[in-house]
Amino acid sequence: MVVGGGPAVTESPLRALHASHRTGPKDGEVRSENRGSYGGHMHDQPTVLGAMSEGGHELVVHATDEASGLRAIVAIHSTVLGPALGGTRFYPYPDEASALTDVLRLSSGMTLKAAAAGLDLGGGKAVIIGDPGADRSDALLEAYGRVVETLGGAYVTAEDVGTTVEDMAVVARSTTHVKGLPIEQGGSGDPSPMTARGVVASMRAVAAYLWDDPALAGHTVAIQGVGKVGAALAEMLADGGANLIVADVDTERCGEVAERTGALAVDPEKILQVRCDVFAPCALGGALSAESIPRLECQSVVGSANNQLATREDAGRLAEAGILYAPDFVVNAGGIVNISVELDPDPYSAARASERVDRIFDRITEILDAARADAVTPLSAAERLAYERIAARAAAV
Ligand code: NAD
Repeated sequence: MVVGGGPAVTESPLRALHASHRTGPKDGEVRSENRGSYGGHMHDQPTVLGAMSEGGHELVVHATDEASGLRAIVAIHSTVLGPALGGTRFYPYPDEASALTDVLRLSSGMTLKAAAAGLDLGGGKAVIIGDPGADRSDALLEAYGRVVETLGGAYVTAEDVGTTVEDMAVVARSTTHVKGLPIEQGGSGDPSPMTARGVVASMRAVAAYLWDDPALAGHTVAIQGVGKVGAALAEMLADGGANLIVADVDTERCGEVAERTGALAVDPEKILQVRCDVFAPCALGGALSAESIPRLECQSVVGSANNQLATREDAGRLAEAGILYAPDFVVNAGGIVNISVELDPDPYSAARASERVDRIFDRITEILDAARADAVTPLSAAERLAYERIAARAAAV
């Protein structure tokens, strides 16, 4: 196994976060125009250190294992608030530069998410380059676990796109710094139901803000994508008496969820235009753009998808259209809050996790109040809340 890389001192996490937030590709999408360039240049040669200092990353480690074919990059963006927690993405990146760009972007996003959620955790992420269907093996995951172990707890891994809770159980054979383990092993299991619970808490906060009552009964919610989170969300909302409209490109799955929850199923291309109180993007990133926002017929957007805004300017576009946007990284923090409960000295408890996830209601309320008071978008208010926590902690040490 070869492990390389080293710490780079960042001047200011605040500046770094501002510079790095949301500049990368949307979730599930790999941008290739930077191919061959890591973002930093020295005598016209791309440098990893250049890209790290641009994004304010503390540590980037490249690792290979000849025997298993492992090729991985771990990025620790910030440990100011605590160990850097973030999942492991297993993805067939077209080249190493795309993988590096993605891991740098994703790890800085985790710093923001953990800080906004009020967790004493920093931001990190790892990518394994390869096709999880063809390249996954126990030997590879064990080798990856040894890489994580080398970092001595500065980075704590979990599942992400392309990896599963069961994969993390294999990674755990060679490191203790892995969370999101199966319930049978004392872990928190699949985070999706807790993510959905956090979305419901966020919707209730938005309802209290807009309509002076947190109850969702009688309100219409349109859900784009009824996968693991969207389906759990639909069930919780149906139990609470909301009227549901759902869409998914997987029509069979959509039909099943509609039948189970009494929802109206519509075509995926129609879901953006349905008249509703809350639009919940729970599919892929980039649903909100200059092209889609004028077509929306909702009063608010509250969903689980990562990177819902195609560009930062879309937060302003939503505000101008009179649509309240609850920032995605605050709304969808239920999964990471749930996993963080595994780091407690006491064994994981779903009741304790639920209680912490429900506090997302207070986070959203605080953000919406701050946005109104300062006449800024909720996105700006949420980012500021996160940056201020990090800056205060950095100043205290
Ligand atoms: P998933 O893959 O289980 O579900 C996504 C669903 O969206 C699938 O059913 C898919 O068919 C559907 N879909 C894809 N494109 C669509 C389109 N154009 N229109 C309608 N439906 C479409 O994923 P998930 O775990 O439910 O996550 C959903 C979103 O929430 C993702 O963006 C994910 O990154 C984010 N998220 C998930 C968690 C979690 O705990 N699972 C935590 C934080 C954020």
